[in-house]
Amino acid sequence: MTDVAKMLERIEADNVKFIRLQFSDIEGQIKNVAIPVSQAEKALTAGIGFDGSSIEGFARIEESDMVLKPDMDTYSLLPWRPENAKVARFICDVYKPDDTPFEGDPRYILKKTLARAAEMGYTFNIGPEMEFFLFKMVDGEPSVKFQDFGGYFDLAPIDLAEDVRRDIIFNLMEMGFDIEASHHEVAESQHEIDFKYADALKTADNVVTFRFVTKTIALQNGLHATFMAKPVFGINGSGMHCNCSLAKDGKNAFYDPKAPLELSKTCMQFIAGVLSHAKSITRVANPTINSYKRLVPGYEAPVYIAWSASNRTALVRVPAPRGNSTRIELRSPDPSCNPYLTFAAILAAGLEGVEKDMEPPANATRNIFDMSEEQRVKEHIDTLPGDLYTANKYMTEDDVICKALGSHVVDGLNVITKMEWDSFRTAVHPWETERYLSKY
Ligand code: GLN
Ligand code: MG
Ligand code: MG
Ligand code: MG
Repeated sequence: MTDVAKMLERIEADNVKFIRLQFSDIEGQIKNVAIPVSQAEKALTAGIGFDGSSIEGFARIEESDMVLKPDMDTYSLLPWRPENAKVARFICDVYKPDDTPFEGDPRYILKKTLARAAEMGYTFNIGPEMEFFLFKMVDGEPSVKFQDFGGYFDLAPIDLAEDVRRDIIFNLMEMGFDIEASHHEVAESQHEIDFKYADALKTADNVVTFRFVTKTIALQNGLHATFMAKPVFGINGSGMHCNCSLAKDGKNAFYDPKAPLELSKTCMQFIAGVLSHAKSITRVANPTINSYKRLVPGYEAPVYIAWSASNRTALVRVPAPRGNSTRIELRSPDPSCNPYLTFAAILAAGLEGVEKDMEPPANATRNIFDMSEEQRVKEHIDTLPGDLYTANKYMTEDDVICKALGSHVVDGLNVITKMEWDSFRTAVHPWETERYLSKY
């Protein structure tokens, strides 16, 4: 039996009535088209056409006929849909009418970068830590009203969200997620759910699925889940720490029991590559105007470009476990990012370090936030870009990152940056009226 025939049989056995074909736009927003099950065979063989010109960062109007081809490995039922009319989804690859991959499809960009790693013998694994807020809905609209006032690791009754979090986790587990931990985060109404690492493509698919499931289940509970980086001033923002490692011949390539700190040469080179491209990675890992309000001192988010085997103030931290669990934790990405582009950028930077045999600077052993500006300059500790416009500039000047993302995506990110930045810099913020209205 062919794979398609097997898939069709499974769809029938699952009593599926509708299929959602999903893909991501350049910002990492999930898009989908629903088809009745009668169209499944066509979707799985020829693909389903759609108009790419209406998708953010996709095609111009004159070349807008595109095709969605489901990736059969991503088949999953949506557990919250009714039993008598089951809905399944596939994550799709986007093709042009001439049957070649569309170079603006974020999933394709990641696949291309993973193929480069594979040529060097590596698989790239990522485990993200998803942080988010659950806010109250007010008059049917999302608000920034806290649902609970718990803090780090708090339990019910302070952690009112316990049941909602459990509900989210049950749904994710039914969709095949391997959940490792969940807890209340530091800020009021803030939570974290961690799922098991996987190769970067599967993890990126998981991140977009995670966001969509979390939002759906929160809403069913009358709440708004947000992955915005810094929804409330004065308290922690939400990060998406990325635990990254390379594997070669089935073994963790970052582990070397004989090396200093038991970190292999490859690991050091990878860290060096990531640090040297950290500023341009920021454009994709922190993609909104608001993302930069998280990257400030005082809220457990990184600001300075350094690595450390011990302290959490560095951009890259090496968590304690070794052996097969050896990994580096990049702490800058936030959960509003496009995971496909972010993982592609991290990997391209790391591989560059490996290829060029780069060496990282000395490991920062002290709290970098306690150092004076002078000390940081002396130790060559640079700072992450402070806003989207600056980060975008670093990206456009970085050949390694531009090559990995491809010109279609880089052009698209430039257009978005210009629009967002112009809109932001011309807006009159309440902060300004509070500050100046009476004084002048
Ligand atoms: N919320 C913090 C951030 O913005 C991280 C807090 C933590 O996980 N220790 O990255
Ligand atoms: Mg964590
Ligand atoms: Mg956390
Ligand atoms: Mg962490």
